[in-house]
Amino acid sequence: MLAAGPNALGFQCGGRGFIDWVMSFSSLGLSEPLIRAVTERNYPAATPIQAAAIPAVLRGNDVWASAQTGSGKTAAFALPILQRLSTSRRESPRPVRALVLAPTRELAAQIGESFRAYGRHLPAPPKIAVVFGGVSINPQMMELRGGADIVVATPGRLLDLVERNALWLAAISTLVLDEADRLFALGFADELARVIALLPARRQNLLFSATFPPAVQALAENLLRNPVRIDVPVVAALAPVILQRAIEVDPPRRTQLLRHLIQEHHWTRVLVFVATKYATEHVADKLRRAGLAATALHGELSQGARTQALADFKASRVQVLVATDVAARGLDIAQLPVVVNYDLPRSAVDHLHRIGRTGRAGESGVAVSFISAGTAAHFRLIEKRHRLSLPREQIAGFEPVELAVPPPLSTGGVKGRRKSKKDKLREAAQEKR
Ligand code: AMP
Repeated sequence: MLAAGPNALGFQCGGRGFIDWVMSFSSLGLSEPLIRAVTERNYPAATPIQAAAIPAVLRGNDVWASAQTGSGKTAAFALPILQRLSTSRRESPRPVRALVLAPTRELAAQIGESFRAYGRHLPAPPKIAVVFGGVSINPQMMELRGGADIVVATPGRLLDLVERNALWLAAISTLVLDEADRLFALGFADELARVIALLPARRQNLLFSATFPPAVQALAENLLRNPVRIDVPVVAALAPVILQRAIEVDPPRRTQLLRHLIQEHHWTRVLVFVATKYATEHVADKLRRAGLAATALHGELSQGARTQALADFKASRVQVLVATDVAARGLDIAQLPVVVNYDLPRSAVDHLHRIGRTGRAGESGVAVSFISAGTAAHFRLIEKRHRLSLPREQIAGFEPVELAVPPPLSTGGVKGRRKSKKDKLREAAQEKR
């Protein structure tokens, strides 16, 4: 593992000295309107992923980038795409030139906002359409009338729009897969293959993710042509910014312990991960009854309710967001000091994505995992994958009384539930690491 050290922003980069990689945006070949936009956002210098990716994307190369969550990936692809599109000829109706795919609606919306913010000073700002499922398709069809230069989409809704002739993908020159490993994984793989079949063969491909499990590497290799590989180490990079704590507690006492920690540490904003949709509602409800502003976020809420929950959390109207892994990927919540694994994540990769919601953009963060006798063995596996060994803590008044049970022969999912087909595939992929 390469040595890692934070820069003035707290961004981490392995194996290089500070001087090597603190780069100004202007030295990367970006135009003045784009530099003005990042300056307005108080970005003093490019992050390592930006310094490496922006010139490669401007040159037209394919890029395969793995970098920690919160490392500035969006600007790493959005800025050079905006620059390339701003110099190309405008046609009417506008053919879609750049397509960005993301696995969740919230992430798609966030990427669209970033594109708009970065492109706002361009002399002819591009038209950016964000399309995702869970909301009515008609306004999206209306928006796409007259075309769009950049489309940010979740794969399913994109295909629906293509089927309704609201969108043509034949002129795409750049494809971005954000959280690419999720898009290659079960559940998205078929849709992704259908989208790719609709694209021109000659195009630029940009793959971004914090994690690239080996199972998806072959798929990525098939898609890319002589890619520039960018690897900003993940685990080493995370360690100094995010303080991880493992606290032993019996499952029935977790909500009380959570309340105690929130009070004791004056946590103003906490993202709590649980294993099921039911648990999000249940835990949020218990916290509300104890007087905390808490709300649930999961995939079965209407899109309106999901957006509202997230907006309330970001605006500090809600102090505790209790979520399933739907909130684990890519979401950028500024000043989120704490993430709590109330239920442990299923895999080490999920763990990484969850805790990556805190400690973003150089802020420090705390990631707390609740460990019980039944989940201790599962957590040891997660630690092993990340080459971690966290001291076990006990909090006075919440010491566990349940006895540790030997790990079941079949350690499926969380809390010894039977493994789903998805779990087994996931584990097989993990095994090959
Ligand atoms: P991302 O990894 O794209 O989700 O970005 C994470 C956070 O870092 C966002 O809040 C960005 O606004 C912020 N960010 C991106 N690039 C920079 C930069 N060069 N300097 C400071 N903050 C940045």
